[in-house]
Amino acid sequence: MSYQIAVLSGDGIGPEVMAEARKVLSAVETRFGLEINYTEYDVGGIAIDNHGCPLPDATLKGCEAADAILFGSVGGPKWEHLPPNDQPERGALLPLRGHFELFCNLRPAKLHDGLEHMSPLRSDISARGFDVLCVRELTGGIYFGKPKGRQGEGDDEEAFDTMRYSRREISRIARIAFEAARGRKNKVTSVDKANVLACSVLWRQVVEEVAKDFPDVTLEHIYIDNATMQLLRRPDEFDVMLCSNLFGDILSDEIAMLTGSMGLLSSASMNSTGFGLFEPAGGSAPDIAGQGIANPVAQILSAALMLRHSLKQEDAASAIERAVTKALSSGYLTGELLTADKRSEAKSTAQMGDYIAQAIQEG
Ligand code: ATP
Ligand code: MG
Repeated sequence: MSYQIAVLSGDGIGPEVMAEARKVLSAVETRFGLEINYTEYDVGGIAIDNHGCPLPDATLKGCEAADAILFGSVGGPKWEHLPPNDQPERGALLPLRGHFELFCNLRPAKLHDGLEHMSPLRSDISARGFDVLCVRELTGGIYFGKPKGRQGEGDDEEAFDTMRYSRREISRIARIAFEAARGRKNKVTSVDKANVLACSVLWRQVVEEVAKDFPDVTLEHIYIDNATMQLLRRPDEFDVMLCSNLFGDILSDEIAMLTGSMGLLSSASMNSTGFGLFEPAGGSAPDIAGQGIANPVAQILSAALMLRHSLKQEDAASAIERAVTKALSSGYLTGELLTADKRSEAKSTAQMGDYIAQAIQEG
């Protein structure tokens, strides 16, 4: 099979970790006889510098022509002075999600063997395991609700955002969460704020309706504030967490840190045709960019999600996941996953990529 991938590395650590994902993809191409063609396009800050806007037409057209988008990260201090709508994240990532209607965001997170020392979880909890799939609605809610803006004296006195959800938007993401739970522990925890927000009341009602089609899946509802707490208190009792756009954004950073690092969490953002954008859940990490120390695992696992969900190459996807598990469980780690006394053993971004690619070749 031959595929066309649009590669949007972006800013900060994006290009560094993307290089390692490409190395690993090359290894699976050889091993599984795939032909993957890559075209690189500018996005985010680098696109502002080179073309004057964060999402140039050529980039969007390239994405439209591709089977999937492999995305790095965008943003950084250099572009923070720009008006909000011209900044890399609001000017590129949100429009891409909206343009392709990538409503379904999957963020699988688990605590790998060998990383218990970096998780803030108590040892008795981490021993029981932590394995959560965050299913986040990505093209609705307060991030896309209109009207939004500012009003008042000098436009500085008042600002507003609108949170809105339709029955259709809620039910299609809920359905995905229930289907995903069937291949896991058969449990969905729906996160809302139904004691305060109208959108959450509708959310809860529609999720209940969808649940009727999945009698084998247990459903529980939890308020977002309680969810942040229970994730620390009883993290091993969660399976699939179904979230709106805002709550999923917040919870996924917490979930990432329970596994030990932002650099481990991958994500898939898809539409109803299976087309998707695959990116690390973390950002451009400007504080560590250019040093060759960023963890490429989130980007590499995002490539695995691309193989699974958009290219339907399950064997290749799980080969990558096994190779990552092998690296982590044998203590082959980047610096942020090591305690201070072990930091001198840290592997570089490129060494991680080499090790994982090699592990794939060896099967
Ligand atoms: P953005 O605005 O793009 O989200 P940010 O400043 O919030 O950027 P993040 O990328 O979200 O930074 O990351 C938060 C912190 O987590 C970073 O400061 C960095 O130290 C750490 N981090 C993120 N990604 C990685 C990675 N791949 N490897 C190691 N550390 C990482
Ligand atoms: Mg961030």
